[in-house]
Amino acid sequence: MLKLQNIETFYGNIQALKSISMDIAEGEIVTLIGANGAGKSTTLMSISGVVPPRAGEILFQDQPIHGLPPNTIVSMGISQVPEGRRIFPYLTVLENLDMGAFLRDDKDEIKNDIAYIFELFPILAERRNQPGGTLSGGEQQMLAISRALMARPRLLLLDEPSLGLAPLVVKRIFDIVRKINTENNTTVFLVEQNANLALKTAHRGYVMENGRIIMADAADKLLANEDVRKAYLGI
Ligand code: ATP
Repeated sequence: MLKLQNIETFYGNIQALKSISMDIAEGEIVTLIGANGAGKSTTLMSISGVVPPRAGEILFQDQPIHGLPPNTIVSMGISQVPEGRRIFPYLTVLENLDMGAFLRDDKDEIKNDIAYIFELFPILAERRNQPGGTLSGGEQQMLAISRALMARPRLLLLDEPSLGLAPLVVKRIFDIVRKINTENNTTVFLVEQNANLALKTAHRGYVMENGRIIMADAADKLLANEDVRKAYLGI
């Protein structure tokens, strides 16, 4: 579904991604783990077009998307949930969800999707008329994921969904990520610093260090790998 070939991404003169190549197949949950500053968020932003790569190719369903503007990439079926959530704090929950559907004009289907989201996250239904900024951190993460789902993505990019949240809330969010993957057949690319949780959720994983991919394997193999355990699982 998604193929990155020799991606090089820069911030000015600083090279954040050094010849990154990876593949994601339809229906998979794939995770990218690595330390702070390894280049995980930059990988997601290269895919979504927010920080376009300077070299290399990104193919989505066999079509090149590198160099396309972010809104075109969204309309092709890729939605990103950015790190730190970034919902619209002064808009209500419902208005935030509407913003996620801004490229769509199928009003009835939009209504159905909101009903589906309220089934996934009943707390958002209860808070539908509350400004997003008044929600708890966990509820804001649920809203950020829901807003991305309103674009009906085939591929969902999640950047650090567990960041700053209590373990129970994190568990609930990851349960829903698995549900979106299995029930909705949405492919998921998950960037996480919580490597243990990410590898337990994903089918496959990539490990990144200093802008390079240093390992790629099935998630259970990475979980059992001595180097990964020492460096990322604190074991
Ligand atoms: P984190 O988990 O801390 O977000 P990360 O693995 O997602 O880390 P990136 O945010 O992708 O890493 O950063 C990769 C490299 O690019 C780092 O060296 C970082 O300092 C640098 N970088 C990130 N954003 C910018 C920016 N806007 N301007 C300059 N350098 C940046």
